Amino acid sequence: MAELKRLSLNTATVNQWSLKECIEGCVRHGVPAIDPWRDKLHELGVDTAAKMISDNGLEVSALCRGGMFTGLDDASRQVALDDNRRAVDEAVAIGAQCLVLVVGGLPDGSKDIGEARGQVRDAIGTLLDYSRSCNIPLAIEPLHPMFAADRACVNTLAQANDLCDELGDGVGVAVDAYHVWWDPDLAPEIARAKGRILGFHVCDWLVPTTDLLLDRGMMGDGVIDLPAMRQMVEAAGYHGLIEVEIFSAENWWKRDGDEVMQIVIERFDKVV
Ligand code: ZN
Repeated sequence: MAELKRLSLNTATVNQWSLKECIEGCVRHGVPAIDPWRDKLHELGVDTAAKMISDNGLEVSALCRGGMFTGLDDASRQVALDDNRRAVDEAVAIGAQCLVLVVGGLPDGSKDIGEARGQVRDAIGTLLDYSRSCNIPLAIEPLHPMFAADRACVNTLAQANDLCDELGDGVGVAVDAYHVWWDPDLAPEIARAKGRILGFHVCDWLVPTTDLLLDRGMMGDGVIDLPAMRQMVEAAGYHGLIEVEIFSAENWWKRDGDEVMQIVIERFDKVV
């Protein structure tokens, strides 16, 4: 089904590995692309990582992640914006195709989600002045509504599409199967995102899910119709890299990294 040349390893999938080990693992297993998380990038050092990635001929589907824009006061929102500009710089340095945005939830102590959503819109608008000048597209990733309070108050593709309509060039969406599979408007909203899909992330939704953040399933072990979603994304013009992104503290993160890579590749071929 999905061809290996489209597979990108989101480094969260093998959290047991450093970025250096992830890069070496991709090379060893013939995985052509990677999406590093910034904490691992900083551990290795941006320059060292950039050199290793390019020396090994890996593509970089995205940098994970910018965002977390919301804050109670101007000062804290400014700190967040400054950090996002650094993230854009890092995306340039490693040749990333886009910067993924997890936009932030309610500021501590706030109950005003409308205000938080306004802050997100304003912050992305401000960041765009910089990211456009650096040619780094911003990929808004809607998160499942269970994360609205603490991680992202953009919770549906409709909301992300609305933001893109409002903000114009240089911003698009990342479609993460885990976050949007349940949405009754999934098909029309993916179609509406035509031309602005910047990433497609896959894993699976386990039944039961024992931890909302850290119990994502391997593709094929849950209830998401991944081929159907891939077809929607492709019909909307996205034929780029597909990231495997599995947060799994009690299962996949406890296994041997090479075993995880092998199973990722098998499942990518069979069930994506
Ligand atoms: Zn994702």
